[in-house]
Order: sequence, then C-alpha cells, then structure tokens
Amino acid sequence: MKIENVIVLGLGISGRAAVELALEKGFRVCAFDENASPELDEFMESRRDQRLDVRLGWKNGELPGADLIVISPGIADSSPLGQAAARSNIPVISELEFGFGFCRTPILAITGTNGKTTTTELTCHLLNSIGRKSAVSGNIGIPLSKSVLDPDKCDFLVVETSSFQLDASANFAPESAVLLNIASDHMNRYETEKDYAKSKFSIFKNIKSHENKIIRSDLLPYWNEFFPGAEKPVAFSCSDETADYCFDRRGEIVIRGKSFMRFSETQLLGAHNAENLMASLALVFSVVPEPPLDLLKKGACEFRTGSHRLEIVKKANGITYVNDSKATNPDSLMVALRAVGAKKNVCLIAGGLDKNMDFSSVLTEKERIKTAFLVGECKNKLANLWKNDISCVIFKTFEDAVIAACDESEPGDVVLLSPGCASMDMFRDYKHRGQSFTSIINRRFESE
Ligand code: ADP
Repeated sequence: MKIENVIVLGLGISGRAAVELALEKGFRVCAFDENASPELDEFMESRRDQRLDVRLGWKNGELPGADLIVISPGIADSSPLGQAAARSNIPVISELEFGFGFCRTPILAITGTNGKTTTTELTCHLLNSIGRKSAVSGNIGIPLSKSVLDPDKCDFLVVETSSFQLDASANFAPESAVLLNIASDHMNRYETEKDYAKSKFSIFKNIKSHENKIIRSDLLPYWNEFFPGAEKPVAFSCSDETADYCFDRRGEIVIRGKSFMRFSETQLLGAHNAENLMASLALVFSVVPEPPLDLLKKGACEFRTGSHRLEIVKKANGITYVNDSKATNPDSLMVALRAVGAKKNVCLIAGGLDKNMDFSSVLTEKERIKTAFLVGECKNKLANLWKNDISCVIFKTFEDAVIAACDESEPGDVVLLSPGCASMDMFRDYKHRGQSFTSIINRRFESE
C-alpha cells in the first residue's frame, strides 16, 4: 500500500519521534493529543512544516482520513483517541512498528514486567565490550523512530519494548528477543493476566530460530500454550538448575553446564540481577556465537545499574539508605526486599498510584519488614491488606513518611524506598520521586 497521509496519536516522546520520522520520509502528518501543554506548543513552534497539522486538546469526534495511524504507547484502546482509531477502519500500528519499517540494523528486543531497562543497558554494554558497536532504543527513552534517523551506524540496536508497543506490531521482527518475567502489572489495561502474558509472548512471533528466543524457565508452560508444538526456546533461571543459563549453589553463572563467572565478581545486587545478566548473556550468544570470553566477563564485571534502581544513596551510622523508586509493581518491591532485607531490618516506604495490582504476595517477605510507611493513593488499600502481618503507618505527605522511616531506623537497618506503585499521583515520574527521596536524606545529614 502506498502511504501518503499518516495520523499520529499522542505527542509524548514516542509520538513526536514518529512525527519526525514520518515528515523525514515525505508523508503528510496529522497529529493529535488529548492534552495541550506549553511543551507541546514549543514542539509545534519548532516544527513548523506545511505538511504537519497538529491538533491539541482533542476531546472527541472522528479522525480525518489517512493511510495509516501510528499510536503512541500511552494511548490506551479504551481512551477516546484509541476508540476513535478503532472506529476509523484505518490500519493502526505502534510507534515501534512504524520505526521498525525503516530500520536496517538488527534488533535485539527485551520485554518483561521487570528488569527491562537494566537488561537493555547491560546487553548493550556487553556487546560494546566485545567490540560490537551497539546502542539502546525503545522504551528506555529513545524511541525506535528516532534511532532509525540516527546516522551513526551500529551493529545492533538493543530495544526495550513494552507490551503496549507489542500489541500493535504485527511485523516487528527482532533478530533475537528475551522475555524476562511476567508479574502483576498494568492490569488496568489488560483484562486477565493471560492477555498480558500473550501480549508479552508476541515478541517471538516473527523470529525463526528457537536459539534466538529466550525466556525465564518458569514461563515454559505459557510457551507451550501459546506456541504448541514449537521447539523449546533458550531458558534461563536463578532457581532452576536445569535451565540453559543457570545460577548454581556456589554462586556461579553456568552456561549449558559450563561455569562462566562468579556473580559476586559483578557490581550487581540480588538474584534478580543475576537473571538479568543471564538474559543479556543469552542475547549476546544468540547473535555472536563465539564472543571473546575475557572481554565479555570484563564487561559484566564493570557494569552498574542506573539510578533509582536499588541505588545506595548513603550509608551512615550503620544504616543504609536505598532508592528503588523505579519499583512500580509488587514484584519489583518483593525483589528489592529480598535483595536488601534480613530479619525485620527494612523501614519500607511504599505506596503511590494504584494500577489495580495484587499486593498480597509481598506478605511472603513480611519477615524482612520492620515497619511499612505508606503514602499515596493506595496507602489505605495497602494498610488494610498488610496490617495483620506488618506494622503499618499511614502518612499524608511523602516527606513525612521518609522522615518517619529515618527516625525509626537503627544501626543494621535499611531505609528503603521501593514504592511498588507508579508515582504520578504525587510526582512527575519515578525519577522525580527518587530525587525527592535522595534530597530528603541528604538534607537530613547536612543538618546534623
Ligand atoms: P523496567 O524497565 O522493566 O521497569 P528496571 O530494570 O528499570 O525494569 O528495574 C525496575 C525495578 O525492578 C528495579 O527497581 C528492580 O529492583 C526490579 N527488577 C529489576 N530486574 C528484575 C528482575 N529480573 N525481576 C524482578 N524485578 C526486577
């Protein structure tokens, strides 16, 4: 089909990148956003082009005619723009799919509920360590539509993909892909956990070799259900020693029966990060079958996770202050408790925007929590669920909760911000929340 007119829905980072790419490719573009903000006005100002028509503050109605609709990941199917797109009978694709159509670089794709950004950065770092020039792209903040316009030639693009992007990506065909894990999240956009899992597994649908499909071994039952009769994918696991990539009792990462390296040589914390490392190694081996092992190990030893992910903000007077603001679902909260908690030593700051998730699983780690300092929209929900097993205190403001957690902590304790929830009820985003935590902690020590 010849494309001349493209509609872009949503003008966040992904939508704006799609607009730029569409104009670059010579299409006419009509772009919509339900909001109107100074940032968007600025974008329009900077992008005056006769072929671009931007409509901000869109409330409802019908979309104009076009050959293609590119939908941003932030636009839910149930939103007014999502529904208008469905009514229009125009083909709808994700920004990821749109960018993929113009991508000439092999893609390694990463999805899962937790650990995507860490694994994306780690995989890119490992590839660069062995001399394969690579760049990160996708959900990590550089939309694929932007990366494909970058003249810097790479051997690989390592692309973080969300399930929302995968949902409208029929042709997206990475060279290799990994599905890290599936846990309760985004249940406000999927009807059942199985729908969410199906969306995540769709990352594999256009990959041919089973050697290039990588999953955590506990997801094999889903694999058998969604791809009946297909050859088994490559499996990794921290708890299953029969997996292709596993972690043995001595703390070694073992690849197909052969010791590769000790996990303690890396600068990563927690079993979940051992899984992220295995997933990254499996991706590297899938596209570079005989990498220089010394360089690969050196790369793994050098890598550090980004800020707001189990980041040690300060250690003082025997107390450790940890910023894990990026933990936005119950599973990542549990992972943080396991990584830093011992017997009743965690003063936990949790709560935020409720995405209709199930927080009862956190109780399996209740022995590690001294007190939970609860904030945000779902503080009462959490308190009601946990109060019989965990000491819970509710706070009006984030600052009050952090100060109370600090006041209660004693030598040997960890003051942990791992909210288990999104941040937008109180903050711009998780970074803003993490920065706020860090500055409250730093102020406390300045005044001492
Ligand atoms: P994502 O990009 O999927 O949100 P990140 O790498 O940014 O993932 O990590 C988000 C949070 O999830 C971190 O706070 C971390 O503690 C937790 N996490 C990281 N890797 C894993 C994993 N493999 N399994 C479970 N939780 C993880």
